[in-house]
Amino acid sequence: MIYDIAIIGGGAAGLSAAIYGARGGMNVVVFEDIGYGGQINYTSEVDNYLGISSVSGAELADKMRAHAAKYDCTFKSESIRKIENVSQPVKKLITRKNVYEAKAIILATGAKPRKLGVFGEDELAGAGVSYCATCDGAFYRDKTTVVIGGGNTAFEDALYLAGICKKVYIIHRNTRFRADQTLVNKAYDNPVIEIITDCVIEKIQGEHTVKSIVTKNTVSHRIGVIDTDAVFIAIGRVPESTLYADFASLADDKSIITDEKMQVGIPGLFAAGDVRKTPLRQIITAAADGAVAGAFAVSYINSI
Ligand code: NAP
Repeated sequence: MIYDIAIIGGGAAGLSAAIYGARGGMNVVVFEDIGYGGQINYTSEVDNYLGISSVSGAELADKMRAHAAKYDCTFKSESIRKIENVSQPVKKLITRKNVYEAKAIILATGAKPRKLGVFGEDELAGAGVSYCATCDGAFYRDKTTVVIGGGNTAFEDALYLAGICKKVYIIHRNTRFRADQTLVNKAYDNPVIEIITDCVIEKIQGEHTVKSIVTKNTVSHRIGVIDTDAVFIAIGRVPESTLYADFASLADDKSIITDEKMQVGIPGLFAAGDVRKTPLRQIITAAADGAVAGAFAVSYINSI
């Protein structure tokens, strides 16, 4: 069968696009191979989504999936490996086992954690080095952990870990935080958290598990060692756009450039959420992107 709209990614952008597509009378398929809700699942608490003053990331992800499932969408737990015939009226989406066809495609693959690029990061990945505090924090009950970064993710991670660990360090490379001031204030007020600024990580040490990190003060250049059981790296995300590099225009940060209707420049091809070039990456903006992409995918199909 030929689907009207195929959506790659089941996070806030993809599920929102699915709802708008299905409500527009379209036959919609959503591909998500890891977990519906996408990056929302890595957030312990969401308190800035309009209309819901506080909810866990996992619960919001479940609600979004359930909301989309109310409509007659098809959900596939398959990973898209290739897109072919992208400029044709019927495009092909290729997974390991199947080939699917759709008239419009919405790219909503989100972003993946940025790597720090220091010695020990890959060697001790899964053995104390983590990119997801809500997934792995519970392993470090009453232990010492380090969170690297100065954005909302780093501060949310540190506040989450402070409820579990005996000591949490936030290490940031300068003194200016990108995190919302309310989160920064909460972290400074939390006796479990110690914030170290003007500090970079030289390496992560440990034989089978993380034991310590070597730090360098960027002002004094003084080298230090902090004993820790885990390192949570929260230094931003990289758009998951590799698959689209052949046909979509990518910005310097690898995000997909779209117009205001989320069109990518090829008829029937749209992008939404964190994978696209956007000045604000939030759940609410991803959901809004999905709504726009879904609505204009409907208009596109009705026009052909
Ligand atoms: P971010 O806002 O881009 O912050 C990344 C942080 O990591 C910055 O402090 C940056 O430092 C630092 N950094 C980057 N590369 C580094 C490196 N190589 N070594 C050391 N530090 C490095 O990333 P994020 O916190 O993951 O947030 C991503 C987006 O999601 C943001 O738009 C954020 O607002 C949003 N978000 C929102 C919520 C929420 O609203 N509830 C929760 C989580 C995330 P510099 O400042 O020096 O560049």
